Amino acid sequence: MIECKNLNVIYQNEILALDDFSVSINGPTITGIIGPNGAGKSTLLKAILSIVSYSGVVLINGENPKKILKRIAYVEQKTAIDFTFPINVKECVSLGVYPNVGITKRLKKDNWNQVSEALKAVRLEEFEQRQINTLSGGQFQRVLLARCLVQKADIILLDEPFVGIDSVSEQIIVQILKLLKENGKTILIVHHDLSKVTQYFDQLLIINKKLISFGQTEEVFTKTNLKEAYGDSIFVEEE
Ligand code: ADP
Ligand code: MG
Repeated sequence: MIECKNLNVIYQNEILALDDFSVSINGPTITGIIGPNGAGKSTLLKAILSIVSYSGVVLINGENPKKILKRIAYVEQKTAIDFTFPINVKECVSLGVYPNVGITKRLKKDNWNQVSEALKAVRLEEFEQRQINTLSGGQFQRVLLARCLVQKADIILLDEPFVGIDSVSEQIIVQILKLLKENGKTILIVHHDLSKVTQYFDQLLIINKKLISFGQTEEVFTKTNLKEAYGDSIFVEEE
């Protein structure tokens, strides 16, 4: 369970990104996080990971997340990733193993086998030696998911994983996430395409600095909640 209690995040420029935000998310589930630009979606994931400073409390299964970071896999929003970093696909995926073996250790054959398995799962086994800067957006996002798979984390946080990717990659990723949920994982996905919400997520969290609504997707994904988050203009075409 991920518990956030009365979270406030204020950045140095005095922008209030999370405002007394509280929620408890039980797994195994796939929870979509939606809300307008600047609503604090990315900030919420960063607070759960303790990579921004916040006031309030975050607990994961009752523990301080800082103590169990290796159990949390995270793929940040694409704009923050350095695509030019000179490593190949296999090496990139292997980075997911290090939280468990330690950064100074060499990977063993067994670890490399896990890397190969993960690349097979995302259907990129033939891309092992490719430099990451030669991949398409969708292939790269699959590499990042493979990195999460080898980490064997219980909690998976993905920030807008489907932005700018092809539909085949999107389908492969969605299938894997559904399997991971069946295997007991708790998955949080920041997302902005409202058309896929009911297909992809069993729970939905709507945020605009404050929690607007959280629960089963069919109960939360309502016009009233969307208007509260995005403003009236979101339904202008229908009226
Ligand atoms: P979202 O992911 O929902 O688009 P963010 O969590 O990225 O929103 O940002 C929430 C607010 O905090 C925005 O107004 C954004 O400009 C601001 N913000 C985000 N990161 C920083 C930062 N590192 N420094 C200052 N302001 C930031
Ligand atoms: Mg964001």
